[in-house]
Amino acid sequence: MDKVVSLCKRRGFIFQNSEIYGGVGSTWDYGPLGAELKRNVKEAWWREMVYQREDMEGLDAAILMHPQVWVASGHVQGFTDPLVDCKSCKKRFKADSLQTARCPECGGEFTEARQFNLMFKTFMGPVEDEAAVVYLRPETAQGIFTNFVNVQTTMRRRLPFGIAQIGKAFRNEITPGNFTFRTREFEQMEIEYFVEPGTDQHWHEYWVQERFQWYSKYGIEKDNLRLREHGPDELAHYAKGCYDIEYLFPMGWSELEGIANRTDFDLKQHAQYSRKDLSFFDDLQKERFIPYVIEPSAGADRATLAFLLDAYREEEVRGEKRVVLGLHPTLAPIKVAVLPLLRNRPDLVELARSIARDLRRQFVTRYDDTGSIGRLYRRQDEIGTPYCVTVDVQSLTDHAVTVRERDSMLQDRISLEGLETYLLERLCGRDGS
Ligand code: ATP
Repeated sequence: MDKVVSLCKRRGFIFQNSEIYGGVGSTWDYGPLGAELKRNVKEAWWREMVYQREDMEGLDAAILMHPQVWVASGHVQGFTDPLVDCKSCKKRFKADSLQTARCPECGGEFTEARQFNLMFKTFMGPVEDEAAVVYLRPETAQGIFTNFVNVQTTMRRRLPFGIAQIGKAFRNEITPGNFTFRTREFEQMEIEYFVEPGTDQHWHEYWVQERFQWYSKYGIEKDNLRLREHGPDELAHYAKGCYDIEYLFPMGWSELEGIANRTDFDLKQHAQYSRKDLSFFDDLQKERFIPYVIEPSAGADRATLAFLLDAYREEEVRGEKRVVLGLHPTLAPIKVAVLPLLRNRPDLVELARSIARDLRRQFVTRYDDTGSIGRLYRRQDEIGTPYCVTVDVQSLTDHAVTVRERDSMLQDRISLEGLETYLLERLCGRDGS
């Protein structure tokens, strides 16, 4: 983890938030390359979960919602973690994650556990009283449930169909940490997939497979991924069953994504609290019922971290250490780097810049002439750029360039005319990515 954290800072992926003020409780900022990487992760999710399916609609609901939403969902009452303090060193712990009865830091005694609600509270409007309390959403899911009827009727959907959403969520975690793995502000990529009761088991299994494959498609090693079924004592109050997709993070197997069968719990709760009819009318079978819901709920930041960790490798090449981010080309922040072999030759620089300008219309392209070619390659390897295009003296006369592939380091001489096609064939998947 330390190596990836240091690379992230050094190369502009992830910075500590408010760093110049000493930082603030586990919040992170994505720098130029991190912003691209995370955006690519979210786009890969949206493309496959929304655009490439005929049974999905997208949504972008507000973060602030009516406070009754969180009463109905059970969050006001039950979205709590048990908190204990060490009486000696005053450190705080989540009671259910402790292995010992005494403080792991100093051996001190703990206070009694108190339930601590993880929702951030704020006030809507100028008066800061109880009546004005609203919450920053702790999950994006509720914005989907409250819009179920809106989406279903406007888009004239029959079951089964899903609603997908990417957005920020906030949890006042007691013990954030492990870099971006657990933070207080994070982004979720959630689907609520509405099905006829009785078919829920089938769709639950379907989504577990579907989501598992998504991570391996984008490059996560099979050995570093596993499925874990929740035991009955672990299940959330609303869930009939739940699987976690876990990744072998440096601190051990940990959740990447949860896929729960939420039954009809949420729609029923919201129907009761809002006194609105949230049922679905099946016009073929002439039946009215509340759908069951399968929820694949992933974290965009956790997925980004897993892709980074999995891609990181160190190799020895001709006696020198080479650090490579073997990111899937679809996720790589920069797709092509254009590098002049000699930076003090204006004609080479001009040609290289014009090649970069042309490629930029098609791919995220970087021009770099701030070092020797060896150093420039190393820099691109370290940020995961799949292809480097090198412009040399011969390019001026033969109108061709050398294209070097990141993983194999193999080089091809490609004519300028065929360069874009060559890169398109290698960089763009058949899924339009
Ligand atoms: P955990 O057990 O790790 O706290 P959870 O089971 O509470 O997670 P869910 O409520 O199922 O998490 O949230 C769905 C997904 O959202 C998680 O799988 C994770 O990827 C992401 N997520 C949840 N909490 C955080 C957080 N504090 N920081 C970053 N990502 C998070």
